[in-house]
Amino acid sequence: SKPIVAIVGRPNVGKSTLFNALAGEMISIVKDTPGVTRDRIYADINWLDMTFTLIDTGGIEPDSNDVILAQMREQAEIAIETADVIIFITDVRQGLVDSDAKVADMLRRSHKPVVLIVNKVDNFDKFMPDVYEFYNLGIGEPIPVSAASKLGIGDMLDEIAKHF
Ligand code: GDP
Ligand code: MG
Repeated sequence: SKPIVAIVGRPNVGKSTLFNALAGEMISIVKDTPGVTRDRIYADINWLDMTFTLIDTGGIEPDSNDVILAQMREQAEIAIETADVIIFITDVRQGLVDSDAKVADMLRRSHKPVVLIVNKVDNFDKFMPDVYEFYNLGIGEPIPVSAASKLGIGDMLDEIAKHF
C-alpha cells in the first residue's frame, strides 16, 4: 500500500498551503483567520514515479498559546501513529519558537523519519541566514520552502522519498 506522509506544525506556518501545492488543487482551506481548516484532510499525491497519501493534520486550529501546544502534541501523536514520514513545518518569519522545540522533541523520541521544512522562504538571499537557526531543533537539516510560491518543493519531495 501507499506510504503515508503527515504534515505537522503550528497554526499559520503554511500546512494547508503546502498541502494544496502538492495536491495541485485547493483541497485544504488556507486561512487568513484562525479556525477555519477542516479536520484532517487526505490526498493521494503522484510525484515522478512515486505515489503517497498526504495528510494535513491541521484540523480546527486554536489561537491561544496553551491550546496551540496541546493541539500540536495531538497532531504529532496522530502523525507518529499513522505516518511513514512526517513533514514538520516551521515558519522562517516567526523564527524558532518554544512550541516548535517541544514538538520536535516528541518527534525525535518517536524515531519516525522527519523532514524539517522551513516555510515562507520566498526569497532565498534574504531568508537563508535565518533558516540555519532551525538546526537547533535537533531533527536534521532544515529545508527551505516557499509553499506559496512553490519553491523548494522538489528538494523536499526528494528528501521525503529517501524514507520510502
Ligand atoms: P496553516 O494554519 O499551517 O494551515 O497555514 P495556512 O496554509 O492556512 O497559511 C497561513 C498563512 O500563511 C496564509 O495567509 C498563507 O497565505 C500564508 N503562507 C503560507 N505559505 C506561505 C509562503 O510560502 N510564503 C508566505 N509569504 N506566506 C505563506
Ligand atoms: Mg491549515
